[in-house]
Amino acid sequence: MLRANFIHRLPIRWVILGATLATLLVSMLVWSVGAYWLGRNFLWFAQEYRMMAQVRIVWTGQDPDRGNRHGLPVSTSYPEDAPLRVAALSTPGTSARIFDTNGRLLAQSANAEPVPEADLDHLHEVLSIPEENRNRHIAYAMNGEDEEWMVLLLPIRQNHHDIGVLQFSSVRRQPRDVNMRMMSYLGVAAAVALLVSGMGALWVAHWLAVPIERLQQATLKLQKGDFKARTGMSGTRSRNEVYQLSAAFDQMADSVEHSLETQRRFVADASHELKTPLTAIGGMADMLKLGQDPQKQRKAVDIISRETDRMSRLVADLLTLSKAGQKPAEQTIEHMSLTQALEETVDVLSTLHPERKIELDAEENIYLMGNRDELTRLIRNLLDNALKYTPVGARVKATLALTEEGVVLEVVDGGPGIEARDLPHLFERFYRPDSSRARKTGGSGLGLAIVQSIAARHNGRVSVTSEVGKGSCFRVVFGGQS
Ligand code: ADP
Repeated sequence: MLRANFIHRLPIRWVILGATLATLLVSMLVWSVGAYWLGRNFLWFAQEYRMMAQVRIVWTGQDPDRGNRHGLPVSTSYPEDAPLRVAALSTPGTSARIFDTNGRLLAQSANAEPVPEADLDHLHEVLSIPEENRNRHIAYAMNGEDEEWMVLLLPIRQNHHDIGVLQFSSVRRQPRDVNMRMMSYLGVAAAVALLVSGMGALWVAHWLAVPIERLQQATLKLQKGDFKARTGMSGTRSRNEVYQLSAAFDQMADSVEHSLETQRRFVADASHELKTPLTAIGGMADMLKLGQDPQKQRKAVDIISRETDRMSRLVADLLTLSKAGQKPAEQTIEHMSLTQALEETVDVLSTLHPERKIELDAEENIYLMGNRDELTRLIRNLLDNALKYTPVGARVKATLALTEEGVVLEVVDGGPGIEARDLPHLFERFYRPDSSRARKTGGSGLGLAIVQSIAARHNGRVSVTSEVGKGSCFRVVFGGQS
């Protein structure tokens, strides 16, 4: 519990570094023990093999890899020739003895004393190795007076029977020294490996920790309300998940900041728009309180009524816009004729503006799945604008057609057109170009934002092309629905 808390409190780079080094240390330890063990065994087996070869060559005069391996062969002159045989096997650093199967000493080399005689247990052990076993012998280490010895016991055979045992001993080459040297080599190698890997681990820990630390700092700042906080990783080329996460955080913070800013501007603009009619209504109400002449009073009531209408429209527009991004409610969607909606809107507007001629070129029976009121509103806003911003006599034309792109609705006018610099902002809420007649006519700048929001709610895209002095074309494409 305590340890877990301690780890939780450590910075991530130390955790990564510590974990890497600990793993490295453990694996190095395992490797070192393994290498040491292998080395020791190698030394043992090398000496055992050498001694066996030595016995075979001297004893039988044969190639060590051939000859009788079930035991050492002897001729009929045995055991009389036993002293000769042990003498032949005795060299500096080696000694030999021959026993019969009951452990009675038959012969021993001159320098055999430092090695104790083989005991009966060992003799029985070697003689009990099954005869099918081609490599019959046992080997063990033994401390003599001054040195350590390796002792081999091999059965001696005559006419397929064990008739004795040879004890052949050889001084072990300071195994402790060799071991110590091996340990020190291993130690130095382990230290170098640890240092190099430690530096590598430090680099990896740093590389992984930087984005995490920055992410943590940026999140804390964001939590405290600093919406400008970023990790600074958005430009990273690394495909590593941690770096990608930091970059994604920055993108998310960008869009949060942008939507907060849009919201703030929206509220400010909406309040500003509502303030104008409210001021007018307030002024007129004050005037009414003074109870002046009836003509002025009627005018004040007219203004109050007009401004109230304007406020109602504005509030309705704001409500429509507040639904932006949502799909229309299921129960309000129907299979409706867009052709019919367009024709009816053109009819209404032609009646309202008898002085204007609206050209209509609509394909019959174009149907959409959508909200009838909202789509009528979209058409109405576009046509209203075309009539509002073009002088009497200028051309206004609405077309509706089914094309490869989908259902395309276009409202084209031959009016004054829109400046190129205003085009990208035209669909923003409350945006009105400086030169706009709307500034004078009291337009709120919400009409096109509503068009865009309704189009989006119906899987459509709206665009505009315009040339100053020649006119504009607003185009809505409802993709994939017909
Ligand atoms: P509003 O008409 O209430 O100002 P809109 O969002 O409908 O708001 O229009 C935004 C602005 O786009 C208008 O103020 C006007 O300057 C410009 N505009 C829209 N339609 C046209 C058009 N057909 N021709 C010229 N300008 C237009």
